[in-house]
Amino acid sequence: MIIDKEAIKARYIAERDKRLRADGNNQYRRIQGQLAHYLDDPYTPFVEREPVNDHVTFTFIGGGFAGLVTGARLVEAGVKDVRIVEKGGDFGGTWYWNRYPGAQCDTASMIYMPMLEETGHMPTEKYAHAPEILEQCQRIGRQYGLYDNALFHAEVKALTWDDKDRVWVVETNRGDRFTTTYIGLGTGPLHVPKLPGIPGLDSFKGHSFHTSRWDYAYTGGDPKGGLMEKLKDKRVAIIGTGATSVQCVPHLARACKALYVVQRTPSSVDVRANVPIDPDWFAGISTPGWQQRWLENFTANQAGGSADEDLVQDGWTDLSRRIREKISELPREQMTPANMLAAYEDSDFEKMEEIRSRVDSLVGDHDTAQNLKAWYRQLCKRPCFHDQYLQAFNTPGTQLIDTDGKGVERITETGLVVAGVEYEVDCIIYASGFEVGTEYTERAGFDVTGRDGLTLSQAWAEGMRSKHGIHVHGFPNAFFVQPAQGANLISNIPHNLTDAGKTIARIVGHAQATNAPTVEVTQQAQDEWIALLLTGMPRMLGSPDCTPGYYNNEGQDPGPAARYNVGYPAGASAYFKYLEAWRDNGKFEGLAFS
Ligand code: NDP
Repeated sequence: MIIDKEAIKARYIAERDKRLRADGNNQYRRIQGQLAHYLDDPYTPFVEREPVNDHVTFTFIGGGFAGLVTGARLVEAGVKDVRIVEKGGDFGGTWYWNRYPGAQCDTASMIYMPMLEETGHMPTEKYAHAPEILEQCQRIGRQYGLYDNALFHAEVKALTWDDKDRVWVVETNRGDRFTTTYIGLGTGPLHVPKLPGIPGLDSFKGHSFHTSRWDYAYTGGDPKGGLMEKLKDKRVAIIGTGATSVQCVPHLARACKALYVVQRTPSSVDVRANVPIDPDWFAGISTPGWQQRWLENFTANQAGGSADEDLVQDGWTDLSRRIREKISELPREQMTPANMLAAYEDSDFEKMEEIRSRVDSLVGDHDTAQNLKAWYRQLCKRPCFHDQYLQAFNTPGTQLIDTDGKGVERITETGLVVAGVEYEVDCIIYASGFEVGTEYTERAGFDVTGRDGLTLSQAWAEGMRSKHGIHVHGFPNAFFVQPAQGANLISNIPHNLTDAGKTIARIVGHAQATNAPTVEVTQQAQDEWIALLLTGMPRMLGSPDCTPGYYNNEGQDPGPAARYNVGYPAGASAYFKYLEAWRDNGKFEGLAFS
């Protein structure tokens, strides 16, 4: 394949410049006030109950993967009263909310779905669909008794450390006020839906909803992909063409009388090749310790890793393998950082050219195909994988409304306007994503007040500070479960979470065994960890020359605090090995138990 790199680079820059806008993250609308109904839970009825005023040993904020895996490990370690507080009506986190048709995991189920081995569940597909992932969450909840103490449809409003009694005080929007020895926080990065700040959004008189609150009562069908028969006489617009839209558009195209897919920036859509999992094959590979081996193998296959075999073989390992192969083609004496970066770039050009030519091979209409091509490096935006999305544009009644990077001009009472043309619709579906660039406390809905009244937003005013991404000085008995400042493995978030869960259970077990009421990272240990992190490469994801999106703070300078959003310099595999040794030697260096 002959690639004119300079021409492509110039196109990338031109496409980016078209999309850069001064209002950055402020272009979106927070869902509150008269928009609040967009947040209503369509899946579980709200049940009144008395406020809770007791004491539990461990409280975890968030009932998604992070809370479930940490809770399960704590139960295994002998903690009987783990309470998960969750704003949804059940466990599942992102998989509780995102029930749009076609939702499925993009990382192979074998490593994406947590605790498969412990629960004895065999994923039915290489990339499982959302209902199965939600069921796995519920299975973990049942198996480890996590439902017993859980508070659903409850949002934490305050978390305050009481230094006298050495407990945390938890307050929720349901009037609960209880104490807990330990807290864990795992609210996830993408849990607050956002709407685009399109003029006139409130004036639309038809039906509308956000993809994370799918209105099956309006559309018909179900999360398993049943035909949305109520849309057969409806004109529907879906705004947004990110990873969510890519998965639900084929289902909408099949169901709607007319479907307008409104695009500001195309996604890169690579091959999915989903297949059912063969029980005989699974029986052969699922020998004791299998999921941990698979997790480690996947991580060792990521960029910077050194695996001899690829057990997982999904879109992410393919991406990393190509990069590694390209770099390994360099003669030994030319292995300089600059040449390695150039080799990485070459591999990206090739991949993106393949993805662009895939559009031509699948989309019948020439102009539509041109408009569906992504002109940026692959990791500028979330890579997508699908085998029916591009083909959906061949369905009669489905039309791509490309806005040439400008977005929807305005919304009217009866439809939406793009480039001066009004499209009348009965329903607008917002596939407009989730808040990312806003303040942590805004997204969480509370601040965490630690020792001596120090709040988390004060402690992190100039950037995140922690040891292992889990412990923060000034916040005793608190554990943060998320990828940054740890492995920072973005292609399989669950690996970060399951590993943190194990670590936390071990620390709590140690504190209890030694009758230590508090555990806290020392200032020195935290400083040393941060100093180590800063010796590594700055974050690679979404550099400023990328087209704007949440990976690069909508193309705006994220400020010096972003420098701390990094992982262990030696890479994810090395981090997991390091952390395993750290927790296994029983010394918990850097933590003070008192
Ligand atoms: P995204 O934030 O990725 O996409 C939002 C979309 O809305 C973009 O296409 C954006 O365009 C568009 N948009 C925003 N404002 C306007 C406007 N004014 N006019 C027109 N279009 C507009 O949200 P998603 O829900 O798709 O995905 C969020 C994340 O969730 C993913 O990145 C991924 O991490 C995760 N996810 C994971 C899945 C999985 O693992 N299977 C599936 C789905 C999501 P533009 O690109 O120009 O900003």
